[in-house]
Amino acid sequence: MSSYPARAVVDLAAIRANVAALREHAGGAAVMAVVKADGYGHGLLPSARAALAGGATWLGVAQVDEALALREAGIAAPVLAWLYAPGAPLDRAVAAGVDLSVAAGWALDAVLAAARAAGVTARVHVKVDTGLGRNGVTREELGDLLDAALRAQAEGAVAVVGLWSHLAFADAPDHPTVRGQARVFADAVALAERAGARLEVRHLANSAATLTDPSVRFDLVRPGLAVYGLSPVPQVGDPASFGLTPAMRLEAELALVKRVPAGQGVSYAHAYTTTRETVLGLVPIGYADGVPRHASGTQDRWGGPVQVGGRRLGVAGRVCMDQVVLDLGPEAAERAGDTVVLFGSGADGEPTAEDWAQVAGTISYEIVARVGARVPRVLVGQDAGAGAQVDEDLA
Ligand SMILES: *Cc1c(COP(=O)(O)O)cnc(C)c1O
Repeated sequence: MSSYPARAVVDLAAIRANVAALREHAGGAAVMAVVKADGYGHGLLPSARAALAGGATWLGVAQVDEALALREAGIAAPVLAWLYAPGAPLDRAVAAGVDLSVAAGWALDAVLAAARAAGVTARVHVKVDTGLGRNGVTREELGDLLDAALRAQAEGAVAVVGLWSHLAFADAPDHPTVRGQARVFADAVALAERAGARLEVRHLANSAATLTDPSVRFDLVRPGLAVYGLSPVPQVGDPASFGLTPAMRLEAELALVKRVPAGQGVSYAHAYTTTRETVLGLVPIGYADGVPRHASGTQDRWGGPVQVGGRRLGVAGRVCMDQVVLDLGPEAAERAGDTVVLFGSGADGEPTAEDWAQVAGTISYEIVARVGARVPRVLVGQDAGAGAQVDEDLA
């Protein structure tokens, strides 16, 4: 067990159950669990294994190195990697049987070179920009890219197995661009099939679309955030309303408890000053650990919420790199070593990642994905019978 006085407890049983719930939401579509960014902070390999155990049949990552890490760990399920720049180790990806997204002519050329070098057929998913204005080949260039890809397919160098895109407003389900992008996507699919592509999978939906819009499921859905039990559409429903359970609990032990007089400025710049004699508690976790500095407290408003001794408090004053301070109140009974919960599932009245996101003016994605590398991940709910363990890859 790590001696670090804070930890992210990751409930793998929750991830398995969330993926099982997403399979229900997906209807007949297959589920690609997105495990990029270290499984949204939950740990790449444990998240991937739990998602597969929950019924995901694909894994999705951004970077090629993330895909290679899955393969090196012996994970054989289909994996798609979708973000790389010239110089990426595509030959290793192709040799490892990683599916690659292709969104530009240069990328097709690079995949072709990698496939020839590796002596295998590269499986590619052509990405079309249906309106997000981010990654993907433009609609104007799609025909030419498909023609080039299908010529390479005829030579056996690549197999065009997927066509895919990404939504701009999936978290606003009634936004007219959702319908518009779905139409453009359906046209792109028709174009690809007319050109001779035999697509295994057409895919457009992220978590929000999977949970709110059955019309955009196509063959495969790509949920990320919902795998970890958070709601991508908090204005529509909380996790429980979608059958999801937040999988991460972030907690720390009080490092110090001390009585101070009224008028004591607290933490940098004294953004908070005690108004009465009180007890301060020092929590050894800060912005280097992912606690957002934007969730600092002020004199008028506490910062990010915490649960301590069964009550709800908030950060008093500035969030520092390694620590935050709480005003525990004059009657505080806490001692150094007592546990403070920053966020969890909410089932025991503790704050959630969504609560932190609202205080910090961000989204829950950022709260979990930015939990720092030095915070040990403690895995629970692994298998029946297996106890908690620290993932040494992450600790
Ligand atoms: C991150 C990502 C996803 C998953 O998005 P969520 O909103 O977390 O479900 C799906 N597709 C692409 C292209 C992504 O980059």
